[in-house]
Amino acid sequence: MKVRTRFAPSPTGYLHVGGARTALFSWLYARKMGGQFILRIEDTDRERSTEESVGVILEGMEWLGLDYDEGPFYQTDQFIRYKEVIQQLIDTGHAYYCNCSKERLAELREQQMANKEKPRYDGCCRDKNLADADNTVVRFKNPLEGDVVIEDMVKGRVVINNRELDDLIIERTDGTPTYNLTVVVDDWDMKMTHIIRGDDHLNNTPRQINILKALGAELPVYAHVPMILGDDGKRLSKRHGAVSVMEYKENGFLPEALINYLVRLSWSHGDQEIFSREEMIQLFDAVNVNTSASAFNTEKLLWLNQHYIKTQDPEVLAELLQKHIHFSYYNTDNGPDLIEVLKVFQERCSTLVELAEEIRFLYDDFDTYDAKQAKKQFKEATLPIIESLKQQYTALDNWTAEAIHHVVENTVNTLEVGFGKVGQPLRLAVTGHGKSPSIDVTLELLGKEKTLKRLDQAIDFINNQNT
Ligand code: GLU
Repeated sequence: MKVRTRFAPSPTGYLHVGGARTALFSWLYARKMGGQFILRIEDTDRERSTEESVGVILEGMEWLGLDYDEGPFYQTDQFIRYKEVIQQLIDTGHAYYCNCSKERLAELREQQMANKEKPRYDGCCRDKNLADADNTVVRFKNPLEGDVVIEDMVKGRVVINNRELDDLIIERTDGTPTYNLTVVVDDWDMKMTHIIRGDDHLNNTPRQINILKALGAELPVYAHVPMILGDDGKRLSKRHGAVSVMEYKENGFLPEALINYLVRLSWSHGDQEIFSREEMIQLFDAVNVNTSASAFNTEKLLWLNQHYIKTQDPEVLAELLQKHIHFSYYNTDNGPDLIEVLKVFQERCSTLVELAEEIRFLYDDFDTYDAKQAKKQFKEATLPIIESLKQQYTALDNWTAEAIHHVVENTVNTLEVGFGKVGQPLRLAVTGHGKSPSIDVTLELLGKEKTLKRLDQAIDFINNQNT
């Protein structure tokens, strides 16, 4: 039998990294088993579902490279089918109409709470054989006895006694179906073999199994993956910073890094940290998925992102960078070949945003300096050093790193100052912030013309500061 898995997000907000992790595991399992991965949009909650959110989910899936073989399917297209199944359950005696009022249910709940019992429906209408009316809901007739056994691929065997469950509502008074019903119908119709989802759904699973059984459907295998927590041990939320997948994109993360991070967050293969997509597919197994929640660690994600930026083909990286919004602030036609620049700079940054910022000085002129650096490096005594450099660089025809380095060395020797007294002000003069790879390589990339212009600018700056 072909493995079929699905990702079934509710489009009520952004694509959360927790959702992305669930999608990733479902996708990985399907790909590993040579099966199919299906995308289903659970949009029956019409008040909270938005088109925009659907768009963001699709965009996020595409960016992460989680391709689906079927879908996206929309639950709102299936209302007729849900009605049909609800009717089937009523006709076969597995569901019934219930007209218990809100007040009665609230009172029942209060009583149960006071008796320290778990609040649950007491089956008042279960055997009344009521007919459909404006004020009726449809409830599933949950078995009264016996256990529901889940052989969960991640959690192992989970047993729930039917006495713990109650007769859940499957159709509201307005005729709309509820989550547990729609999921069951779709998983059944779509022939899902494996349900991989967050363990916040574990309490729904026995109910869903009972409905599937009542329909005579074959049961899928379940795998409930643990939640992602923030670094404070609380469930990951906006409070902890970026949680939306597209926000990571904007913040300059590569999809490979996020995917690698998410797979490692709750799954391991020995102590291996870096996984290519192919390796993930080959090595993934549900057995090694953690059983308990894992905490999100931004430092580690940054480390992985740096790894992927560092090892990326500079040509591909150039393309990625050019598409990046933070890169539109300046024009890379006004300076050195971007690919040559990236070969030097790509190992220095952990995000594309940082990279775009770090190489900006090669293309964009500036008229202010990092204040702290300027105070430290641009003193009156620096003036003769910069002037000497300017003179020598003006005369230099062979603009290579080696020759540029020679000039620095020569300055150190003739003016009898330390290397730092020459290199640091020079770096600040050309970059504006004092951070760069080795100065000779930096100047070679920057080019003679820009270098001389910036030395002039630094001389003016120091003169103005000291008058
Ligand atoms: N739509 C549900 C959610 O977004 C997921 C349902 C499922 O995976 O069974 O939480």
